[in-house]
Amino acid sequence: MKMSKFYMPTLREVPSDAEIPSHKLLLRAGMIRKNVSGIYSYLPLGYKVVRKVEKVVREEMDASGSLECLLSAVQPKEIWEESGRWDNFGPEMFKLNDRHLREFCLGPTHEEYFTTMIKDEIKSYKQLPLNLYQIQTKYRDEKRPRFGVIRAREFIMKDAYSFDTDVKGMEESYQEMWDAYDRIFTRLKMKYSVVQGDSGAMGGSISHEFVALSDVGEGLIAYCNDCDYAATDEKATVVYKNVNSDEEMLNMEKIETPGVGTIDELHKFLNVDKSRLAKSVMYEKEDGKIIMAIIPGDRQLNETKLFNAAGVNDFEVEVASDETILKATGAHSGSCGPVGLVGEYELYVDSRVAEMRNVVVGGNEDNYHIKNVNYGRDFEGVVVEDLLMVEEGDVCPKCGSPLQLERGIEVGNIFQLGTKYSSSLGPNYLDENGKAQDIYMGSYGVGVTRSVAAIVEQNYDENGIIWPMIVAPYEIIISIVNMKDEDQVALGEKLYNELSGLGYEVLLDDRNERAGVKFKDRDLIGIPIRVTVGKKAAENMVEYSLRKDAEKIDISVDELLEKIKDDYVVL
Ligand code: ATP
Ligand code: MG
Repeated sequence: MKMSKFYMPTLREVPSDAEIPSHKLLLRAGMIRKNVSGIYSYLPLGYKVVRKVEKVVREEMDASGSLECLLSAVQPKEIWEESGRWDNFGPEMFKLNDRHLREFCLGPTHEEYFTTMIKDEIKSYKQLPLNLYQIQTKYRDEKRPRFGVIRAREFIMKDAYSFDTDVKGMEESYQEMWDAYDRIFTRLKMKYSVVQGDSGAMGGSISHEFVALSDVGEGLIAYCNDCDYAATDEKATVVYKNVNSDEEMLNMEKIETPGVGTIDELHKFLNVDKSRLAKSVMYEKEDGKIIMAIIPGDRQLNETKLFNAAGVNDFEVEVASDETILKATGAHSGSCGPVGLVGEYELYVDSRVAEMRNVVVGGNEDNYHIKNVNYGRDFEGVVVEDLLMVEEGDVCPKCGSPLQLERGIEVGNIFQLGTKYSSSLGPNYLDENGKAQDIYMGSYGVGVTRSVAAIVEQNYDENGIIWPMIVAPYEIIISIVNMKDEDQVALGEKLYNELSGLGYEVLLDDRNERAGVKFKDRDLIGIPIRVTVGKKAAENMVEYSLRKDAEKIDISVDELLEKIKDDYVVL
């Protein structure tokens, strides 16, 4: 492609609403443009990268035996009602009506659609297992679209669904997808971890996330260096040992704590270790009902674990307002606790607090706390094994070594769904004995456009993007330094034709721009191999360099091909 004819609107300035490197660089490199919040267009250079990521995904899905389809993005309400997710998916779902006021959504995912599609066609165990996938645009009205295409409202996803006769088959399909994802992210040259995930709205129990390691990642993963334990922060099991369960129970005592509103203040005021203070965190449901969680004072609440225990979706609850807290407890948030609550509430108690003796809690009266509170004797609630957020240095639940924390971007995930969808949506099959059985399903996603941004996050410097060869929009860029120099133009064109003829994807910078502009642009757009045709063109000499390092060498045109061949395979 000749750049004189190309559309690549690069920007010198950093766009003001872009916070992270990949977002800034994809905009600056003229690869994406924002339409409205969370909705992006891919310009020619950016779309080439998207297509290359899709190609890797497609090749590895095909190799795994999954079959490509393309289903519609428009989905009728009825199938979502049958699965119970029309309301459950919440405000993330884009809903629309047709002219007859029939209701639809723009698919945020396709479990329902695929399940309904195969329902009438699959009759017998002989037709299973089956694995279908598509690469398609998804719509989610994210609460906080941000970081460019990383958390967008319209994005490209590869989604796959497996259908098996039993648990064992489902587990095998799951492993095949796991292996395919390993191949995909390895080929994309990603530094990634596979971690246990929370299944959330998908249902099912076992799930794993593929997480590209990056400081700008929204997700935190906890992992162990001594064994293979790794989980998202939402999922990671917290081993908490700071429990004094063998102490004698003492009598409750109400104490005045003037002006004390936080755990820190209470700790200083009473000179009591924070682990002996119990923290109360309150949420309210849409119907005004209170959900209170009680956890050790030295830890943070894990909302996902609480909401799973309470059986609510995150969009159905809010952090309780001051007014609600006052109404429910008779005190402001710094003084409320689990003893003597009235009205409609649900109380969830971390199992470690339930075992602790003589803890201090809020007194449900401003400026008062209660000492020597004991679960079972002084208050009751639903005891939940673990409501805590993992912290660096926590003990690995598998081997006991200290856990490490790292940030990452979720680029893919795999779920074992079991019979959640087949039991409600009805696809079943007849087994060898002619008996109807539920189909066991799995669902598997890769964020294609999010992966593009994740690759940038792992491959850039102060001058721009450094694409790995496999996804680079073009493989080689030839820059003609001076377009007025006939030798340079002739050699540039000759190399362009030769290299293109050999099957390389080549960009020829034949624009009437200053050399400085050309070099800045080529750094920004990150083409892996660079050939500069300059003053030595008449001697058949060019300058050769790679985007990833600063080293430049003069090389004769005769040697150029060999050099490119050698570098191509390692980039
Ligand atoms: P997240 O926790 O980041 O919201 P998710 O669990 O909702 O992700 P899935 O429903 O499993 O994601 O979707 C499969 C894949 O699609 C994710 O692994 C991710 O790579 C991608 N994805 C999800 N939401 C978005 C989004 N808003 N923008 C871009 N890609 C997304
Ligand atoms: Mg999501």
